[in-house]
Amino acid sequence: MVANDWPISRLNMNLQGMEPSATVSINERSNQLRAEGVQIYKLGLGQSPFPVPPSLAQALRDNASQKDYLPSQGLPSLRRAIADYYHRELSLSYQPESILVGPGSKELMFILQLALDGELLLPSPSWVSYAPQAKIIGRPVNWLPTRYEDGLKLTAQTLEQNCENGGERPRLLVLNSPNNPTGVCYHPNELKALADVARRHRLLVLSDEIYGAVSFSGEQDSIARYYPEGTIISNGVSKWCGAGGWRLGAMLFPPQLQPLLQAMITIASETFTSTSAPVQFASVWAFEDSSELTSYQRDCRAILSGLGRHCWQRLQAAGAELPEPSGGFYLFPSFEPLRAQLEARGVSNGRQLADRLLGDTGVAVLPGECFGRPAEELSLRLAFVDFDGTRALAGLTNASRPEEHWLRRYCAPVVTAIDLMVDWLGS
Ligand code: GLU
Repeated sequence: MVANDWPISRLNMNLQGMEPSATVSINERSNQLRAEGVQIYKLGLGQSPFPVPPSLAQALRDNASQKDYLPSQGLPSLRRAIADYYHRELSLSYQPESILVGPGSKELMFILQLALDGELLLPSPSWVSYAPQAKIIGRPVNWLPTRYEDGLKLTAQTLEQNCENGGERPRLLVLNSPNNPTGVCYHPNELKALADVARRHRLLVLSDEIYGAVSFSGEQDSIARYYPEGTIISNGVSKWCGAGGWRLGAMLFPPQLQPLLQAMITIASETFTSTSAPVQFASVWAFEDSSELTSYQRDCRAILSGLGRHCWQRLQAAGAELPEPSGGFYLFPSFEPLRAQLEARGVSNGRQLADRLLGDTGVAVLPGECFGRPAEELSLRLAFVDFDGTRALAGLTNASRPEEHWLRRYCAPVVTAIDLMVDWLGS
């Protein structure tokens, strides 16, 4: 067979040994097991459980006939809406000319890495795909340690130490708040301290703000407010507008980084040409101010905040160590305090723990290793999204954080998954 004859050695060296993304793979594996009739609780892929708001879905229907290629940089009215959004939400001033729209912020992050020279600085843990994107391109990755005592956040001190050792070579630091995979948000003082270090060492910062509007407090912040000249912001409609599959992301650049933006527009024009026209026209609505969007997001936040807190409390009571989530839909527990019991059951690393949980309880999660934690660490990432968000929104009678009896009724698969995990740990 031709397929077997084709030598792997002819692949680009950087790709040899690489496998598809862990988040995408766990989703496909979970779907496959479900199709085979196995009861699976999908806490693997981090996808918004909520529907696309009705007016946004209507806007897409209204624009179904938009058929022309749009400018590679993005639809001007969408870029204007994104600039206005950042002005309204964060008092940041960007011109539409300083914004690039792409088919998902993930693709934009990849072409950002392609356009740049230098090293990638990633707090450990970080989202699954930043490092593999660097590997595809052949860019070195420098993992920066974090500690559970600090809520798994990068501290200014750690960044400073790393920069002192790193000389003057160009570096891109990725910061993500609210954070995937930990669920924590950086405090304004923490962002200011990191901004001081970044400025002193002339780092470029990519501020991944894709979970910004699902910060449980409703407050958003950005390191771009403290280090505007060196920060690129990325955002999109996947996480706070229920539209991950629409693949719509954007990046905002300060005037100092225009040459980088121009290089990325060139790459865009030579690769994806432009982002889907109907999706861009419709997405203008997502960045505009409306009472429908405001109440949708308030209700999503209330549900996520209640559910995140419930799962956090249950896992903590079962002996895990984990930061309390304050945004997004993830938890990152460490089961190191239970190492002795787990080792007695043949589980000595995160991958074995994730495999055993899937096999014994049907709960699909990812090992911390996928997020840059040491392979031996007994850590996991849980995405608490396996519930019917349409039904949950309809069942919410007020916008305060729901209690356990409500969660058991409207977010049953997640609550059951956590019960199963806790029972399994105690068995
Ligand atoms: N960001 C989501 C996650 O971490 C899913 C999307 C993706 O990884 O591409 O699970």
